[in-house]
Amino acid sequence: MQDISLERAIAALSEHIQSPENGIERISLLSARGRILAEDIYAALDNPPFNRSPLDGYTFAAAATKGASTERPVVMEIVGEVCAGDYFSGNVPFGKALRIMTGAPIPEGCDAVVRQESVRAEGSKLYLDVPLRPFENYCYRGEDVKKGTLLASKGTKLDPACIAVLAGQGFRAIPVCRTPRILLASTGDELVTPGEERPKGKIYNSNLYLLASLLDEMRMTPKQMRNLPDDAALAAKLLREDAQGMDLILTTGGVSVGKKDIMHSVWKRMGASRIFWRILMKPGAPVLGYIFPDGRIGIALSGNPFAAFATFELLARPILQQMAGMREPKLLRKKAVLAAPFLKESPGRRFIRARYEDGYVVLPKQHASGALFSAVTCNAFIDIPAGSPKLESGREVEVVLF
Ligand code: AMP
Ligand code: MG
Repeated sequence: MQDISLERAIAALSEHIQSPENGIERISLLSARGRILAEDIYAALDNPPFNRSPLDGYTFAAAATKGASTERPVVMEIVGEVCAGDYFSGNVPFGKALRIMTGAPIPEGCDAVVRQESVRAEGSKLYLDVPLRPFENYCYRGEDVKKGTLLASKGTKLDPACIAVLAGQGFRAIPVCRTPRILLASTGDELVTPGEERPKGKIYNSNLYLLASLLDEMRMTPKQMRNLPDDAALAAKLLREDAQGMDLILTTGGVSVGKKDIMHSVWKRMGASRIFWRILMKPGAPVLGYIFPDGRIGIALSGNPFAAFATFELLARPILQQMAGMREPKLLRKKAVLAAPFLKESPGRRFIRARYEDGYVVLPKQHASGALFSAVTCNAFIDIPAGSPKLESGREVEVVLF
């Protein structure tokens, strides 16, 4: 089997994504953050739904304030008041004023609002020293959203502002794509669950926590989460049981060429077919993609923590996003200038961790694929093409933000 590029691996898995919509469910707006909209949503209302005051003051017909000056203030009778949540029924006669609070509807007969601090009110009389223009301090009906506007299209990831806009339309529940059901497992006899005693020769399992947290950020909760032993028959049995009803099986470890690299046998034992093994990138090259006859997808990442992280971000995330119904997920790429040299040649394509800021990228000291601590402050991968020499500082590079 030939090694393939990252992009071809993504495309090869994408072909097996059954229905991008994956079923639709209606959920409350309060639980919609990060979910993917399943239908286009249009505004049902003008928002605001009426002309309203943007401040606390007085409203009247602007024409009546013509010629107002300190020497000759315009004097108006105050005919009443209106607060947010109320409305003034009827007309405010020309030359008279109504006290109005922020957010209250501007009644018929009025087309301007003066700020309370800019006028003098004595009893029921209002004194204005300056004239107002029509529609001064006037907030128009529909100035935020016009009825019929496309507010959010199918495939959009819902963020707080979008959720608030939908709430402002009075929507309580909205149609979103069902989240893919994910089975997450690590593999390795050396792994111990954090919190438990660590026998000699063992290490704590960090990948399970890494991947569960990355999924959680995507609003995807793995249905099962466990560590599998380095025993292909047993691992395949456990995985097959857990994988019932799942859409995607994500594992780490056991994909290289070592004696305990069980995943090569596990996918066969589970009755799946291999789509690819090994992609043309470092770290995480030995990633394995497989597919079950019923269309479920398997992605087996390397066990090295940074390799697992990089291949999750660059390969698994776009697949999961498509499965979740997101429209054309794209990696966020930018050009940046290296703030320090990277003194290694790159015969093959390499992704290195970096911190991107204001057009520059800074590199941590540690780049080993088994080391994750130095990635904690990073927010980007530098995508170094195959055949690149050592990179001098000041050189332009391409980064992928995560
Ligand atoms: P593997 O891909 O299984 O050959 O593992 C490669 C390296 O990553 C080894 O040093 C493993 O001990 C380590 N490793 C594998 N899985 C995990 C994990 N879940 N958490 C932390 N380290 C791991
Ligand atoms: Mg292993």
